[in-house]
Amino acid sequence: MDRLGDFAVRDVVDFAFCPRIIYFRYVIRRGKERTPKMQMGARVHGEFSKNSRRRRLVEGLPKLRRRYGINLHSRRYGMNTRIDCVLVDDERGCAYPVEFKSTTKPRVLYKTHRYQVVMQALIVEEVTGMTVPCGYLKYLTDNSLTRVATTRKIREEVTEAVREMEEIIKNERIPGPTPYKKRCVNCFHFDHCRRM
Ligand code: SF4
Repeated sequence: MDRLGDFAVRDVVDFAFCPRIIYFRYVIRRGKERTPKMQMGARVHGEFSKNSRRRRLVEGLPKLRRRYGINLHSRRYGMNTRIDCVLVDDERGCAYPVEFKSTTKPRVLYKTHRYQVVMQALIVEEVTGMTVPCGYLKYLTDNSLTRVATTRKIREEVTEAVREMEEIIKNERIPGPTPYKKRCVNCFHFDHCRRM
């Protein structure tokens, strides 16, 4: 089957969490997904748009021109994204996406967070023609920051993820379930998935 419409960067994040979600979302097309985690994320993203909150949000980030709440479309990947903040270094021709998270900084950087920032970086490069050497994750609960380098290896990993997403949809192939069972606990697709 062909995919109708564009991907969102959220699809890449969910693929990193469990590839089977892409099958449910685009092949079976099961209802509108909503989880407690997504609701929390939406609240935070609503809050940062208030000017009064922004000063604290950008603490620790490089002092560059900032643009908030940027919507971008990638023709190359057929994908849309809304980026919380993009730092722009006009002198060097570089840009840096910043993603705000409503949690504390994890001990180990999550693959989902890494994929999100790198996918945003690839889209920023394509759309603006600027170089994106890294992106940032700002964890709001403990006000900490993680820098994510956009190495060649991680770029290849993320573009391969997009290729696999396309392949799941085109061939209507159901991927295996995630080996991490605790990820299934709050999954919107849990009831359906366990019957397959
Ligand atoms: S229930 Fe588990 S295996 Fe099934 S889609 Fe959700 S996360 Fe993946």
